[in-house]
Amino acid sequence: MSLFRSLAGTEMPFSSDSCNRFDPGRYACVCCGSVLFDAATKFDSGTGWPSFDQPIVENAVAYRADNSHGMRRIEALCNTCDAHLGHVFPDGPPPSGLRYCMNALSLAKVEEDAHA
Ligand SMILES: [Zn+2]
Repeated sequence: MSLFRSLAGTEMPFSSDSCNRFDPGRYACVCCGSVLFDAATKFDSGTGWPSFDQPIVENAVAYRADNSHGMRRIEALCNTCDAHLGHVFPDGPPPSGLRYCMNALSLAKVEEDAHA
C-alpha cells in the first residue's frame, strides 16, 4: 500500500477515481458565457458535484453570505451576471484550501480547439 502510494507520488492527490474523466478545457457561466473555471483545477471531491479549488481568474466569481437553511455558507455567483453557481467551502485541497462546489447545470463546458 505505502509502496504503491510512493510510486504514484507524482499524481494529483485526488486522481484515484479513474471513472471520472477530467478532460482539459474550461467551464463557463451557462447564463452569460463568462469563463469561470479551468478543468486543471477540477478535482474529485466525492460529492457528485463539479468541484474546483480556484476560479480561472480571481474576479470571475462573486461571493455572498448565505445563511439559509440554518447554515452559514458562502454562495458563489457569476461576477458578470449574478447567476447562482454553487457554494464555496473551506475544506478543499492546497494551495487554496477552498472547494468550489458548483452546480453542474450552472456551468457550460467550453471545448478547446481540436489539436489533431
Ligand atoms: Zn454569468
